[in-house]
Amino acid sequence: MKLFFGHPGDQPDYHAYEALQIFGLGGNMPEFVPEEATMWLRAVYDDGCGVTVSVPDLRSSKELERFIYLKMAELTGYSSPWGCLTGVRPTKIVNQLLAAGMSPDEVMSELTTFYCASVPKARLALDTAINQKPFLDRQASDPSRIGIYIGIPFCPTRCLYCSFTSNSIEKYRKSVDPYLELLRAEMEDTAALVREQGLKIESVYIGGGTPTSLDDERFDRFMRDVAANFIDGAPYLCEFSVEAGRPDSITALKLASMSSVGVSRISINPQTMNDDTLRLIGRRHTAEDTLRAFEIARAAGFENINTDIICGLPGEDTEAFSHTLDEIGHLSPESVTVHTLSVKRAADLKRDERREMLSAPVTGSMVASAFSRLTARGFRPYYMYRQKNMVGNHENVAYCLPGRESPYNIHIMEEDQTILALGAGGVSKFVAPGVIRRAFNVKSVEEYLSRSAEMAVRKRELFKK
Ligand code: SF4
Repeated sequence: MKLFFGHPGDQPDYHAYEALQIFGLGGNMPEFVPEEATMWLRAVYDDGCGVTVSVPDLRSSKELERFIYLKMAELTGYSSPWGCLTGVRPTKIVNQLLAAGMSPDEVMSELTTFYCASVPKARLALDTAINQKPFLDRQASDPSRIGIYIGIPFCPTRCLYCSFTSNSIEKYRKSVDPYLELLRAEMEDTAALVREQGLKIESVYIGGGTPTSLDDERFDRFMRDVAANFIDGAPYLCEFSVEAGRPDSITALKLASMSSVGVSRISINPQTMNDDTLRLIGRRHTAEDTLRAFEIARAAGFENINTDIICGLPGEDTEAFSHTLDEIGHLSPESVTVHTLSVKRAADLKRDERREMLSAPVTGSMVASAFSRLTARGFRPYYMYRQKNMVGNHENVAYCLPGRESPYNIHIMEEDQTILALGAGGVSKFVAPGVIRRAFNVKSVEEYLSRSAEMAVRKRELFKK
């Protein structure tokens, strides 16, 4: 079957495009036919017969998305687990519905009937919104609370699916010291801005890349710089997180450095506990490295450890994923972030023949089994987001034991808190009622080294009315 979408003008209506994108993931993205006076959908079957549906001029963008979704589902036989919910943050809609006075049952009904979401997805979005509500309420009552993000854009190797700002630490060896030097200057400048604006630091999050790809000595110096600028004497601080990321980059000395400056949460991210898959996706560590990293982190006193895992990795079946869940269960982390593989344009996987090894139906059962096994152990979902190009059109969800939430992750997803971001690729966000302004740091390490003054100005301008 071939599908066509006729639309006036050069570009299809944004909301119509969003609804059609859902079917791109199901393998049925229609061909666009511009310069038509009206909008229509046309299916041409293999025997040459066709059916054309005209798309009414609906005033509400949500109704337009819904209409196109339902017609496309009828034409193709494909339905998305999230129905016609197209945004990155399904919880935002739930929060809006709850704020409008709907009861949880009414929200469930709206998500499943108007948005056509499946019952498990509607329940997931609702439970997540309920679990994060205390954090959103606290922020609403004190908008001067902020988060700080600091990025180290280096990794031991590049993962096949990576679309982040990450550079091989081996290839960039000469840039590491100049980068850390400029980052220290950016920290000092940002700390001064925090003081001038009377902001309260609630969380500090070190991400990347892989921050622990720095050697022990540089990592220790970097952590002391972070502490001197943002941690020491920060009375509102309730989270200091470090993405320790690759298990093979974690050493006893780095754990001691983190411990000495008060890091409260680390992430050890195996992604999978299957060595064949780890080799295939270009990570230079083994499942055994993850076990060792957990052991030394526990011995160093870390009591809040997150692990990231991925559903839908190339070549994995439900049995392989179940093995990962079993192994993670033995490690007893306090939170588990379950990603669905997303194949983005910048990822090597996009152009790799191993892309053929991805399977959407299998990914759905992995997502469902992660939910049931984690919730059975007392974990609850507390933040989530969706991305374009996710296998099977699922989502990323963080589950944690009660009291082990990461406020930084909640606020960055819900966009209700000002975040000051440092380092290459950092995106600072000024948030006030009805206003979100962003300031972008350059992505490439080379440019970061030459354009730091310009980025400092941009960050300060965020606070100018
Ligand atoms: S560890 Fe993360 S940032 Fe580094 S290459 Fe892999 S996906 Fe990219």
